[in-house]
Amino acid sequence: MILRLLSAVFRVVMKPQVVFVLGGPGAGKGTQCAKIVENYGYTHLSAGDLLRAERCREGSEYGQLIDSFIKEGKIVPVEITISLLKNAMEETMQNDQEKFRFLIDGFPRNQDNLQGWTNVMEGKADVKFVLFFDCSNQVCVDRCLERGKSSGRTDDNRESLEKRIQTYLQSTRPIIEQYQQQGKVRTVDASRSVEEVSLPPCNIDQRYYCDLICSVICTITSCIH
Ligand code: ADP
Ligand code: AMP
Repeated sequence: MILRLLSAVFRVVMKPQVVFVLGGPGAGKGTQCAKIVENYGYTHLSAGDLLRAERCREGSEYGQLIDSFIKEGKIVPVEITISLLKNAMEETMQNDQEKFRFLIDGFPRNQDNLQGWTNVMEGKADVKFVLFFDCSNQVCVDRCLERGKSSGRTDDNRESLEKRIQTYLQSTRPIIEQYQQQGKVRTVDASRSVEEVSLPPCNIDQRYYCDLICSVICTITSCIH
């Protein structure tokens, strides 16, 4: 009984708190996420970075597939992305129990991503809100081309960017709109300079601890009954 209680409480305590970070390619998501990490103690997980790391990992069965999807600006199959995100979250929390806040950058990028998240993570993580980096396509393209001078990325070129922008408009914008209808989007004017971009408060702890106390009380009550 005590063990059951403890493991239930432990599961509740360990539930990751997630903020999805979306916006066009080069909108400055990674740049601003670094500030949030510094100020609020989140762990930043970029879907793109995880996929690029998996592409280079020796022995990866997905290396070639990921490579061609990235060059084409297409969205990699959700099973791959979800398992990379889930592993990264679990590893982070195993190494440090205090690290339960995650900025998940570049996800969910389409309906398939969203469905995959619901299938695998529903009940296992709380999505608090979506941080939307809003700026024009031209600003996105200019920034990526500038980044491309030194990034070594295979997709920071005009040809890939045209496709990435199309993918963003056709697949990702509807996801942002969906979250907007649920009142879960916090929009950032990403067109300003790095220093001038104004971020909303990203403190989620107060609500987290309220939810936590409620869940613990519910768990204890159901165990007693
Ligand atoms: P994302 O993560 O959205 O792809 P990054 O944070 O990597 O975008 O930024 C893309 C490029 O634009 C980088 O070279 C970065 O230095 C630059 N950059 C980011 N934010 C701004 C900004 N507000 N103004 C000008 N350049 C920016
Ligand atoms: P980014 O680093 O966010 O600009 O992403 C670079 C590329 O990685 C994208 O153009 C996609 O090909 C791939 N990618 C990034 N995030 C995802 C995702 N959530 N699902 C599938 N593919 C992704």
